[in-house]
Amino acid sequence: MEFVTLAEAGEPSGIRKIDASSERITYNPKMSQGSTFLSCPICGAHAAEDVWQDDVWQLVRCADCSVVYLANPPNEEELAALYSFESGFHTELLDQSAAIEDADRTAQQHLAELAKIVTGGSLLDIGCSTGRFVAAAKQAGFEAQGVELNPDTAEIARGSGLNVTTGTLADVQAEQRSFDAITMWDIVEHVPDPIDVLSRARELLSDEGWLWLTTPNIDGLFPQTSLRVANTVGKWPHPEPPYHLTQFSAQTITDALQRSGFDQVVIKHQCIPLSYSFGSAMKMLTDPRRLAYAAAFAPLAFLGPHVHRGDTLMVAAKPGPAEVGAIDLRKQEPVADLTESATTPHLEMPGSPSRSLQQ
Ligand SMILES: [Zn+2]
Repeated sequence: MEFVTLAEAGEPSGIRKIDASSERITYNPKMSQGSTFLSCPICGAHAAEDVWQDDVWQLVRCADCSVVYLANPPNEEELAALYSFESGFHTELLDQSAAIEDADRTAQQHLAELAKIVTGGSLLDIGCSTGRFVAAAKQAGFEAQGVELNPDTAEIARGSGLNVTTGTLADVQAEQRSFDAITMWDIVEHVPDPIDVLSRARELLSDEGWLWLTTPNIDGLFPQTSLRVANTVGKWPHPEPPYHLTQFSAQTITDALQRSGFDQVVIKHQCIPLSYSFGSAMKMLTDPRRLAYAAAFAPLAFLGPHVHRGDTLMVAAKPGPAEVGAIDLRKQEPVADLTESATTPHLEMPGSPSRSLQQ
C-alpha cells in the first residue's frame, strides 16, 4: 500500500494520505481533481482510497474505519443554499399532491416501525422538512416537534400548527435527556459532522429512549454491483453528491452510533423504491438505456434485503446496555415496510454477533 502526500495527490486512484492540516474547502466547480481533501468525518483518519468521482465530487473510503465520504464537500453556506426553495429543494411538497401523499405514506410506515418499540411520549424529528412526519406522530399520540435547516419548509410546518425550530440540532431548546424518541429520516448522510449530530441526539435522548434513522447503504447489492460498471456506463446513481456527504453501511453506521454514545444498534435492510432508483415507468419506456439499466439492476436492488445487503437501512439505536427481547423489529408482523417494494425484514447487529437478536 503506497501513501502519497497531498502535493502528489493528483493521482487518479490508490490510497491518498490527506494533509493533516487540511480543512473544509470552498466548493469551486472548476477545482482540479485532488487539490484538497477532508479527513474522515467519523474517525478523523487522514488516509483514504478513491471510490468514485462524479463531476468534481470525489468520493473516498476511509482507510481506517471504512466509511465512504465526500472528500471535497460544499461549505456550510453552500449547503444552506442547496436546501432552499431557490434551489428547488422540496418545492414539490408545496403543491404537488402526489409528493405530499407519498410523504404521508412514508410517515405512516415510519410510525409503524416506531410502534414496535414505543407508542407515545416526547419525540423530536431532525430534518423534518414540511413536518409531515411530525404531524403524523402528533396524531398518533406523541408529543412531537421538529427541527429543520431549510427556513422555507420549516415555515410551512409551523403554518400547519406544528412546533418546528429553524436551524440545526444545536438550535433546539430542550433539556438534556428529555426525549423518548428522536428520528432522522434520510438525514445523517446529509450532515457535515454526523458524530456531532448523533452525539447531540444522544444528549437529548432519555437513557431509555430510542433513536431511529434511515440512510442509504453503500455496501448494498445494487450499489456495489452497479459501481463495477459505473465507469463503463458513465453513471453511478447511488451516491448523489453533493447532497449525500457520508455514505454509510451497516457496519459504519453502527460504528458511528457507538462512537456517539449508543450501545444497542438494530438494523433492518430495505430496498429503496425502484421508481426512485431507476425512474418512472414512463421515463424508462422513453429511454432505452435507462430501461436496459433497470432491467439489469432492479432485480439486484430487490434481492438485496433478502441477502442482508439492501440499498437502504432502517436503524434503531439506544443508549445504555442491551435489553434483548425489547428491540426485535420483526415483531408485530406484517411489517409496514418503508418501501413499495416491500421485502422480508432482516435484523443484524454488525460487529456484535454475540448479541444477535435472530435466535
Ligand atoms: Zn474513518
